[in-house]
Amino acid sequence: MSEAANRLKKQLHYEKTFDCVQCGYCLPACPTYETMGKETHSPRGRINLVKMVAEGKSSVENMREPIEKCLGCRACQTVCPTNVQYGEILEGAKSVLEDHEKKTKKQQVTEDFIFNGLFPSRKWMNAIGNATWFYQKTGLQAIARKSGMTAMAPLHLDKFEAVLPKVASPFERRNSPRLVKAKRNPKMRVGFVSGCVMDSMFHQTNKNTIELLSRAGAEVVIPKAQTCCGALHAHTGKLEEARQLAKQNIEVFEKENVNYIVNNAGGCGAMLFEYDHLLKDEPDWNRRAEQFSKKSRDVTVVLTELDGLEFRHSMNERVTYQSSCHMTHVQKVTSEPLALLEGIPGITYREMAGYDRCCGSAGIYNIVNYEDSMEILDVKMEKTRRTKADTIVTTNPGCLLQMKLGIQRAGLEKEVRAVHLVDFLMEADPQPKEPRK
Ligand code: SF4
Ligand code: SF4
Repeated sequence: MSEAANRLKKQLHYEKTFDCVQCGYCLPACPTYETMGKETHSPRGRINLVKMVAEGKSSVENMREPIEKCLGCRACQTVCPTNVQYGEILEGAKSVLEDHEKKTKKQQVTEDFIFNGLFPSRKWMNAIGNATWFYQKTGLQAIARKSGMTAMAPLHLDKFEAVLPKVASPFERRNSPRLVKAKRNPKMRVGFVSGCVMDSMFHQTNKNTIELLSRAGAEVVIPKAQTCCGALHAHTGKLEEARQLAKQNIEVFEKENVNYIVNNAGGCGAMLFEYDHLLKDEPDWNRRAEQFSKKSRDVTVVLTELDGLEFRHSMNERVTYQSSCHMTHVQKVTSEPLALLEGIPGITYREMAGYDRCCGSAGIYNIVNYEDSMEILDVKMEKTRRTKADTIVTTNPGCLLQMKLGIQRAGLEKEVRAVHLVDFLMEADPQPKEPRK
């Protein structure tokens, strides 16, 4: 066998495809199989395609569409009885597709800018935050909407523009603290991953996260030199770029001597949780990445462990929960968000059928595969409607925007709202719990 064929097999994790026994248990769990109805767009079908490409029985291009239409939600991995490592197979397939894609010069320059210039750069992320704040604050947004200019935006970006949160002012973002003391007897010191998009567009949610941790008894350090987690890079097959970002974050948080490295975005959290896997073949980094991953926690897990809050305000709302698939199927965080929700006085919890199924957001899937994503979202909204909830709580910014989009598509703006769990907890007036005597 040629060296190139061997390399391809390794890159595609060929040996892992044999763990799939073709039982089909994963089919009902797969959102793209549900909406697209094709075997090639199911987990089993995709694994078969990868195997065939690795064996030289099919071309790389034959797997492009089915692989690109996979949400990467990993629901199939959770239900698989033989523990097929679908995430690794998908990641390998994406990196092969990335290597084989013939890009125009313009495409290459745009991608280089987005992935190597924009996301890792605090400067650029701040500039986007500032421009959005200016656009919202000065009335430009109202003019653009009224004149129909937003509708001219490419890639359906007008739809996302309509559901963006109110962005914090440049002054507020610039002056955010780097260390926040615990507001009760400190029980631990944690590092906070402020994220790239989270920090510029969801600054209030970040602020609320830090406040909750501090009221619950954690000292929070927010290192300035941290960077993007690399999730978008990894999900588009740009593994080398993702590794560089991971190394920067590992170095930054190693200096802080913290008990946990906390995040509030399910998708980013899953990436941080898997830095050990990302750097497993680099001996100089493997152990350091393992330490980092071991300390990575979603904020709901840390708040549950701290058990330091009591909620003073009764919310009197019917609440349903749309979990982040990366938080559920990769980080395996399931009970903590629900326990926190149920600790709020006055809420009535309404479970949504398939609340742990992907909403179709999946990183930038809803931008690059807009129509497919909206089909998945419409199924989700039908299930949401049946709960008769007036609040949908999520734990990831992408899911939050997607659910807001779903509310709009379903014409439910007057009856239903979507909110990040952290912001919802803050609305319930959390105060440091008095220690038991
Ligand atoms: S459940 Fe697992 S073993 Fe069964 S078809 Fe799906 S991936 Fe293969
Ligand atoms: S990751 Fe999600 S969309 Fe992709 S095959 Fe698995 S269940 Fe289906």
